[in-house]
Amino acid sequence: MQGRPVYLVEGDAGNRKITVPADLAWAEARLRDEQSGRRLGAPADGGAWRVGSGYDIHRLVEGRRLVLGGVEIPWERGLLGHSDADVLLHAAMDAILGAMAAGDIGRHFPDTSPEWAGADSAAMLRKVVQMMKDQGWQVENLDATVIAQQPRLAPHVGAMRERMAGLLEVEPARVGIKAKTNEGLDAVGRGEAIAAQAVVLLRGRKGA
Ligand code: MG
Repeated sequence: MQGRPVYLVEGDAGNRKITVPADLAWAEARLRDEQSGRRLGAPADGGAWRVGSGYDIHRLVEGRRLVLGGVEIPWERGLLGHSDADVLLHAAMDAILGAMAAGDIGRHFPDTSPEWAGADSAAMLRKVVQMMKDQGWQVENLDATVIAQQPRLAPHVGAMRERMAGLLEVEPARVGIKAKTNEGLDAVGRGEAIAAQAVVLLRGRKGA
């Protein structure tokens, strides 16, 4: 006893004592992991990255509005679905939910629920984004592909990026959207449907 106050400090299970050669091999492996983490630019605050992917397809029919990426596109047909059937936002939602291992859009917005009948998919995405933020995550970037034989989507991609960036609460530079045809192949190529794929990277705070 030296008459000094005693403090408790939080330990770290990773702070292992090096005694035998096997401990050294463990320490070297840990160092390698940390260095590769730095190369990847792991969040400095000890947070984490999570990647998620999403896919969706909806049938094209007459008498429906065509809404893609939250933007209404003037065309003779639209996508059929319980909500407004915005395949691009649906794929984005599934990517975010997937990154959080939180199930899928069908679980959160059942197509048997009258609440989501004819729903604006942007409102659904806002709910998913809120859930994501509540769990300590934010979007680092999102990249998506829309596959549609018709109409030509290139003139609308800018508006879709702006709209999706707003919904995801990031700047448009973090949202990629590519529009492709299906080269005339399969149902999408015959113009019977539009499909979309999305990949998202989430950045989480420590403990997320
Ligand atoms: Mg869908």
